[in-house]
Amino acid sequence: MIELISDTKCVQCNLCVSVCPTNVFDKVPGGVPVIARQSDCQTCFMCELYCPADAMYVAPHPDRLSGQSEHELEQAELLGGYREKVGWGAGRTPVSSHVYLAELAKRVVP
Ligand code: SF4
Ligand code: SF4
Repeated sequence: MIELISDTKCVQCNLCVSVCPTNVFDKVPGGVPVIARQSDCQTCFMCELYCPADAMYVAPHPDRLSGQSEHELEQAELLGGYREKVGWGAGRTPVSSHVYLAELAKRVVP
């Protein structure tokens, strides 16, 4: 479930508002979007994936939050952590290069 938008990291691009399939966020003119309908979140991670500033954290559980502070999330490298693992963002390893994907490819019948 979407847990946090960092006010200090957000660059107010509103990409998260655009990509969310369940309209969880509201735009704020000249400001950081707000999580307006948190219970509508489907834990799809799309907002975190698209956020160019690594300003978001989606907790992995669909029905509960981690309860961690922004500082704790940042220390644990969880802000934008999903995006980093998938390899989106400059200088990151694309998911197609991950070992587990190579292992999956080996299972494909030629
Ligand atoms: S995780 Fe998916 S459903 Fe939840 S707020 Fe982000 S984009 Fe919307
Ligand atoms: S996608 Fe990230 S940077 Fe853009 S408005 Fe949303 S939280 Fe802010």
